Amino acid sequence: MTTYREEFRRSIEAPEAFWGEQARRIHWETPFEKVLDDSRPPFARWFVGGRTNLCYNAVDRHLASRAQQDALIYVSTETGIERRYTYAELHAEVNRMAAVMRSLHVKKGDRVLIYLPMIAEALFAMLACARLGAIHSVVFGGFAAPNLAARIDDAKPALIITADAGARAGKVIDYTPLVDEALSRAEYKVPQVLLIDRQLAPERLQAPYLIAYEPLREQFFDACVQCEWLESNEPSYVLYTSGTTGRPKGVQRDVGGYAVALAASMEHIFQGAAGDVMFTPSDIGWVVGHSYIIYAPLIAGLTTVMYEGTPVRPDGGVWWRLVEQYRINLMFTAPTAIRVLKKQDPQLMQQADLSSLRTLFLAGEPLDEPTAQWIQGALRKPVVDNYWQTETGWPMIAIPHGIEDLPPKLGSPGVPSMGFNLSLRDEQTGDICAPGEKGVIALGYPLPPGCMQTVWGDDRRFVDTYWKSVPNQQVYSTFDWGVQDDDGYVSILGRTDDVINVAGHRLGTREIEEALSSHPAVAEVAVVGVADAVKGQAAFAFVVLRDADRLNAPGVREGLEAELAHTVDTQLGAIARPARVHFVSMLPKTRSGKLLRRAIAALAEGREPGDLPTIEDIGALQQVKAALGAGG
Ligand code: AMP
Repeated sequence: MTTYREEFRRSIEAPEAFWGEQARRIHWETPFEKVLDDSRPPFARWFVGGRTNLCYNAVDRHLASRAQQDALIYVSTETGIERRYTYAELHAEVNRMAAVMRSLHVKKGDRVLIYLPMIAEALFAMLACARLGAIHSVVFGGFAAPNLAARIDDAKPALIITADAGARAGKVIDYTPLVDEALSRAEYKVPQVLLIDRQLAPERLQAPYLIAYEPLREQFFDACVQCEWLESNEPSYVLYTSGTTGRPKGVQRDVGGYAVALAASMEHIFQGAAGDVMFTPSDIGWVVGHSYIIYAPLIAGLTTVMYEGTPVRPDGGVWWRLVEQYRINLMFTAPTAIRVLKKQDPQLMQQADLSSLRTLFLAGEPLDEPTAQWIQGALRKPVVDNYWQTETGWPMIAIPHGIEDLPPKLGSPGVPSMGFNLSLRDEQTGDICAPGEKGVIALGYPLPPGCMQTVWGDDRRFVDTYWKSVPNQQVYSTFDWGVQDDDGYVSILGRTDDVINVAGHRLGTREIEEALSSHPAVAEVAVVGVADAVKGQAAFAFVVLRDADRLNAPGVREGLEAELAHTVDTQLGAIARPARVHFVSMLPKTRSGKLLRRAIAALAEGREPGDLPTIEDIGALQQVKAALGAGG
């Protein structure tokens, strides 16, 4: 019997042997010449010279043995649509989409920006890009026009694929006005937009470069598009993620390394095998959607359930009824969803037959103990926390049940995954921390397969952002605090930077501050993350107005609050809207002018702000305290 310890050591000490074996999990049209090229740190190239294709591995490869097995079960509780696609049908749909894209001159290396709600066509479009060797860049449908414009300018797509509308909690969200606005804001001129008409919204994009998908799909109904065999290290996609500055970073992923890592993770961590049914209620706009709604389950021959809707509509039993109806074996969501479900009638869960369900996986934000205990008790199934980031593409800390059944420890997602040379580093010296000592979670070079290759179009930013932040060491910083115990289990203790996590979504507080500052009444603003019982964290904004006296007039405060919320909605999207806006006449800063965000957050959480050696004016903190107390 292999043990975790042995396997892990081999993955670190003999990465070529370890990953060379794992690479057999996927199809290589041309075998690789070298498992790892580590000649140019911190860049790593995996499976050099090997040629493969993500779409081939996710779809075509299964046609011989499982053409009639469901590949995709699509469920929308917003529109009432439920559809199953076998691997053969998925193959046909992806070929149609690829043929349509090819007719629009999309070719290898071109970027395709996908701005779509949770519809099956989104999955077809991503796989069609992979088939053609085009690089998809999915932008979360909840993002507003300026956000979309920034991503258009960075990715310079040859095509945008969008829909008339998304739907959430019974509300239709028109996409086309957002796309129209983004197109006019962006400097880069997108040559064409493909529209998937769900017939939800009456208004249409009027632009002359708009192309309707449906007639083209008919035209290419029987199309067959060859897979483009890509060298393992060519880019497969770019996924933007928030950092500490307003400018989003395009996380660039490869082809071969990603496919191998996902296939390995399906066995080592998720214990999912071909024929199983996996339900990951998340969004294709996030990394978990890329990895565990689409690529990993399909590469491993599972059936993936794609869901449009919330966990509580029409009622809090909807997900559990899906488990029963589709005999779901594996579920993967974020702790926020569980905290939402916790408020529902427990009967709703008990009424469903959950016998098919083996494990519930949770990731994306800290799993607090009460939530972990509640769901474990209610479900009576293993609940497995796992920790990762957009950058890593798959869990870097988890319990590797597929290798060894290590016992879980409450408060920790587990131990480092294969190939992650993880250490806790002292923030000041870069030295490795002793067990039990808090440090920055860092990863040694090379990052294992599946992790980000670079920042799209900006190698320097990749090096400077991630590889230079731990002093005296060339290690990758996760920007998370952690602590490791004697058995190697790591607990996550929150971010080291100004990034907050609201309902599993990563938001840069600076981005929100920049949006609020654009309002003419605002002089200065600080946004902090404050503990929230349901969402994990909520954004609180502390605003200094140019003319504080305005607030004395009746109704002005409420009006301003609404305007500020609207400003954030239109610039970033409603997910970034602050939960509370407090007005103060000054903000607490250090003498060098740095905002004391951690101190503000502490006060908002009812804690003491701690050591404040160089605070400029203690009065500012008192104001924050008073504003919190007054609820204004
Ligand atoms: P994202 O790239 O949007 O998935 O966000 C990644 C960040 O979410 C990490 O850097 C952590 O701060 C947080 N995170 C993800 N998974 C976990 C987890 N299991 N426990 C605690 N924090 C997590």
